Amino acid sequence: MLKLNHNYSDLKDSYLFYKIAQKTRAYVEKHDGAYLYRLGIGDVSLPLCDEVIKALHEAVDDQSQKQTFHGYMPECGAHFFKEAVRGYYAKREISLSVDEIFVSSGASDELGDILDLFDKSSAALVIEPAYPAYVDANVMAGRKIVHLSSGEENGFLPDPDESIDAQLLYICSPNNPTGAVFCKDKLKKWVDYANAKGAVILFDAAYEAFIEDEELPHSIFEIEGARTCAIEICSLSKTAGFTGTRCGYTVIPKELEREGMNLNAMWVRNRTTKTNGVSYILQKGAAAVFTDEGQRQIKENIAVYKRNAKYITDALDKLGIWYCGGKNAPYIWMKCPHGMSSWEFFDFLLEKAQIVGTPGEGFGSCGEGYFRFSTFGSPQDTEIAAKRLINLLSE
Ligand code: PLP
Repeated sequence: MLKLNHNYSDLKDSYLFYKIAQKTRAYVEKHDGAYLYRLGIGDVSLPLCDEVIKALHEAVDDQSQKQTFHGYMPECGAHFFKEAVRGYYAKREISLSVDEIFVSSGASDELGDILDLFDKSSAALVIEPAYPAYVDANVMAGRKIVHLSSGEENGFLPDPDESIDAQLLYICSPNNPTGAVFCKDKLKKWVDYANAKGAVILFDAAYEAFIEDEELPHSIFEIEGARTCAIEICSLSKTAGFTGTRCGYTVIPKELEREGMNLNAMWVRNRTTKTNGVSYILQKGAAAVFTDEGQRQIKENIAVYKRNAKYITDALDKLGIWYCGGKNAPYIWMKCPHGMSSWEFFDFLLEKAQIVGTPGEGFGSCGEGYFRFSTFGSPQDTEIAAKRLINLLSE
């Protein structure tokens, strides 16, 4: 008899964005199509930059001529794309070989697929509040999940401790939802811990391009010892507006071995079996992100989101409300005022100021009492929303 994967029955309903959509729809219907200031979305709003569009068009033309046409691409990534990523890391003095870089269709795909490398008896540590996909991908795989709460007392950046009984350690920095970023010293504690325990860190660097403080690490491979314990998963989704275009990359160092097996070699085997690569056209477009002009142009877009962040953080500073994030990340994580729960604050903001954000409780129970603002929305709306926040909360 066919047996299904019953781990799916253990998944909790992903009610967060559904409930937000329901509540906002009900509000708009009740208030005659009222305009809402949407600071909840995690998707980007600016288009791909010209340098990427130019490369995509050229690649389409290449596919129209026999001499320049490309069929199947190498499963682990085109040399030109991996070389572009290698050069990007080299600028921060991280030396990678092209064989350590794998192209992907985005971080979500990789965060799920990479679990193929690990036996389900290895437990996964999720630092909460967390991006919900970490938990769900491991529940689907039937893996035990260990939750580590973080909070204001550690700036939502906890240290490892001996009570953790997990072998796969998720670290997301800059973090979604908190916007908190691990400094090198704190990240070194996790690297040392993983090496000592024989654990593997899955480092989600989807928001590294938002880091502006010089001393903060963009990559876990800026930390000594990471090459023997970490896999880095990165995405061009937020860096360069690829959410709908899809491209990312994963770094697995050649030194990463456990139980006498080499994880880089295992991933080559996995990719050459389970994928036929990412399209030539997309890799051409993605490689353009790493040219000097591409970097200049994506930074212009990131600067727009950063201006949005400043509107909100200035408002919270003025109101004297605790928050983290915003400076080196596209998310701002604020404490709900007057002891409100995160859904109470959601309703309050919607009713009184027509602002939509994301209740922190949706990212894990320790997110209760906090609220996430995204900076990916329209500058005009974000500026108005920030003024409305000030008016509402200084009353
Ligand atoms: N990792 C984090 C922390 C995210 O917030 C997101 C998307 O919001 C992803 C990964 C997924 O990115 P991608 O679009 O590359 O699948």
